[in-house]
Amino acid sequence: MKALVKWDAQPGLLLDECPVPSIGPDDVLIKIRKTGICGTDIHIYSWDEWAQRTIPVPMVVGHEYAGEVVELGANVRHLRVGQRVSGEGHVVGMKSRAARGGRFHLDPETKGVGVQIPGAFAEYLRLPAFNVVPLPDSIDDELGAILDPLGNAVHTALSFDLVGEDVLVTGAGPIGIMAAAVARHAGARHVVITDVNPTRLALAAEVADVEPVDVGKEDLQSVKARLGLREGFDVGLEMSGAPAAFEQMVEHLVMGGKIAMLGIPARPASVDWAKVVFKMLTIKGIYGREMFETWHKMLAMLESGLDIRKVITHRLPAQEYEMGFEIMKSGNSGKIVLDWN
Ligand code: NAD
Ligand code: ZN
Repeated sequence: MKALVKWDAQPGLLLDECPVPSIGPDDVLIKIRKTGICGTDIHIYSWDEWAQRTIPVPMVVGHEYAGEVVELGANVRHLRVGQRVSGEGHVVGMKSRAARGGRFHLDPETKGVGVQIPGAFAEYLRLPAFNVVPLPDSIDDELGAILDPLGNAVHTALSFDLVGEDVLVTGAGPIGIMAAAVARHAGARHVVITDVNPTRLALAAEVADVEPVDVGKEDLQSVKARLGLREGFDVGLEMSGAPAAFEQMVEHLVMGGKIAMLGIPARPASVDWAKVVFKMLTIKGIYGREMFETWHKMLAMLESGLDIRKVITHRLPAQEYEMGFEIMKSGNSGKIVLDWN
């Protein structure tokens, strides 16, 4: 089969021939139709320090996908050949206290599809049946291919009650934009999204009914005044990984405000902890998606009017992956979907 492989410990990826994975009794084989390019894939493509520390080579990369079940392991009863599916990209162990308690997303032995185990930028993917998520007919393959990052957005956004709340989203990358759309869908009052990239802010306004703010040009204090927020934002969703954005969030949240933090700072950064303490803020780190509550919620919201399709700005055949990776690296895109048909 064709797959995007990192053969050696150096930048780049090659579309190359690989054996079709063989499946075990508890696995399924998925014929991949569409995949999404993630920021993580860009790290692997560029072979930065994180990738060098994390990715064993050779490795087939990619973890955002939709496809069709073509083979079932001997023990798999609840799925069928021909079924359209996506799936959770974190493969968990079953030994930890968290996993045995049903809190699978907290399992410390988690392995990432396309990170530590062979991934989805390929014609076929082997996946534990446990991880498979069937797709309803109303969710097509390209939406199916971006459920992984939508799940990050949903997991973050639904961490705190948003109904009637004023929400600040920092970072209008694809995930921040989707989180803002989720906040709007969930019933927030004001949803403000910040970035320093005008292209991304314009995309945010196109995807969701949100207030885009270029923090390079406008101060959040004047935004609060404009919106009539006397005390500040109730909930912050940190989606940039930029220490400056986190600092602004702490500054502009209300006393007792809540922060859900998905953005990953590139290196350790200092925080004004006295402000966090005196404001009595709650900060929750977010990793991945809850298995499988986040998946249920996002499918249900997509079926009840959440529309994030416009976050997909580029659609390319898999052969043109290099162009896709370069566009993604430029920072001037939303999600990029590769077609494996
Ligand atoms: P992205 O890099 O495409 O978007 C980040 C955005 O933040 C960019 O548009 C950038 O211009 C903007 N930004 C930079 N400085 C800013 C500032 N001072 N204020 C406001 N915005 C600023 O990333 P993405 O794919 O949308 O992902 C969002 C974040 O979540 C990234 O940090 C990513 O690494 C992280 N992530 C975490 C998980 C997890 O499980 N925790 C999963 C996926 C992604
Ligand atoms: Zn991803």
